Amino acid sequence: MTLPRLLIPRESLPGETRVAATPETIKKFLGLGCHVHVQEGAGLLAGFIKEDYIKAGAEVFAAEDSNLLRQVDAVLCVNSPQQALLSKLSKGTLLVGLLAPYGNSSLEASLKSNQLSALALELLPRISRAQSSDALSSQANIAGYKATLLAASALDRYFPMLMTAAGTVQPAKVVILGAGVAGLQAIATAKRLGAVVYVSDIRPAVKEQVESLGARFINPPELEEKPNEAGGYARQASELFLAAQRKQLMEQLSEADVAICTAQVPGKKAPRLLNEEMLDQMRPGSVVIDLAVSQGGNCFGTKPGETIVRKGVRLIGASDLPCSVPNHASVLYSRNLLSLISPLVKDGEFILDTNDEMIDGSLISENGVIRHENVFNAGGTN
Ligand code: NAD
Repeated sequence: MTLPRLLIPRESLPGETRVAATPETIKKFLGLGCHVHVQEGAGLLAGFIKEDYIKAGAEVFAAEDSNLLRQVDAVLCVNSPQQALLSKLSKGTLLVGLLAPYGNSSLEASLKSNQLSALALELLPRISRAQSSDALSSQANIAGYKATLLAASALDRYFPMLMTAAGTVQPAKVVILGAGVAGLQAIATAKRLGAVVYVSDIRPAVKEQVESLGARFINPPELEEKPNEAGGYARQASELFLAAQRKQLMEQLSEADVAICTAQVPGKKAPRLLNEEMLDQMRPGSVVIDLAVSQGGNCFGTKPGETIVRKGVRLIGASDLPCSVPNHASVLYSRNLLSLISPLVKDGEFILDTNDEMIDGSLISENGVIRHENVFNAGGTN
């Protein structure tokens, strides 16, 4: 029987520090009967050195080994590798990662021309069985935590209320927009640091979760239109609804020290929740962290990876926060992949059963035949 061969590439996207497999998950893959090949240098930025991988049982290979690339059955990655690597893979090789498929025509062309199969973790259905494979959640959790730390460190005030010999200082007021996975972790972290936290989301279902963390929920505007949700995600709100929401948020933001923006609708441009007029009301020294910046931003004027000071307000475009916690981000991400891939290993190969809801939902290409055309055609963000 042949052993399925897994390849772990060194990530090529600038700024990427994570890796798709750690020595821990490699041992588990070997236990399932796989061979694991790790590209030299992979994992280094996340704290995993070549010797750790070799000790775990992986084979470390040099970047140019075309012969090996032709023989692998699956490539586990964080971001899609470049065409130079993809073009060396054999027909039917399976690519698994955060492939950023929405509106991504170059990924579509590359999967077609190289006749590859691909599982995009962004499209895993949000069902109970998928939770341990849910990389969006494991990474969003880190982003929410780090967003609050970033805000606390950029703010010109304390987060907690402090009673000192020089008198009392009031706690910071933090407004969090969007209470999904990142937002909830941002709330929990801000509460731990002692801030007073207000939260806006358009899904009324999250009110209870927000309040259980000790934060105050700002109810969505009372309009006939209810964007609400589909499959656990928010639906896109109309411009009329967003205008009402901005009006409602104006007062909260004028008193805020920090705004953390996490509001998103998958595959769509992020809702614009903070406009210029609202920023004008924020006090100099306050901070806005925009986690939705790569999807167009919740806040006017934010740019990916940049801090812009506008009339004394710091606007931080936090596009890659999981990369700033690369060790734990990789540990959790690699476990997500292990959980997704393990059941696919059968009799020496990877079997992709499209009757399985998880595979059906996330398989965007089968031997180069594109599935979920609507995802590639989405107005997306790529
Ligand atoms: P997301 O990143 O797509 O969006 C973040 C948040 O932004 C969401 O809560 C959304 O309602 C909110 N939002 C959208 N438009 C907004 C607006 N105009 N104003 C304010 N907020 C707005 O969401 P996510 O973090 O991926 O999570 C979405 C939901 O899925 C959550 O309820 C989460 O708990 C749930 N979930 C379920 C599973 C599972 O069952 N397997 C796994 C992970 C997450």
